[in-house]
Amino acid sequence: MSDHRPKRPTWDCAVCAQPYPCPEARAAIATSDPWAAATYLAGQFVIAVNDLPAVPVIDLYARFLLSVPLRARRSKHPHQR
Ligand SMILES: [Zn+2]
Repeated sequence: MSDHRPKRPTWDCAVCAQPYPCPEARAAIATSDPWAAATYLAGQFVIAVNDLPAVPVIDLYARFLLSVPLRARRSKHPHQR
């Protein structure tokens, strides 16, 4: 996806030291397949919740799962409107 990856267990970006996913990582994730991106972000979220017990889960949810605009590819998934 990009060079911007999380550094565990702090979950700051290994490149730019901003909280992951940083703006560069979000931009890269947003351009990938939305289904793969959603799976990836959900997986990262679960790991981060375990690594950051002091951070409210709702904050991590917003940080990982609401921060990246994902667009369903309707032509590949005709069951979606
Ligand atoms: Zn970064």
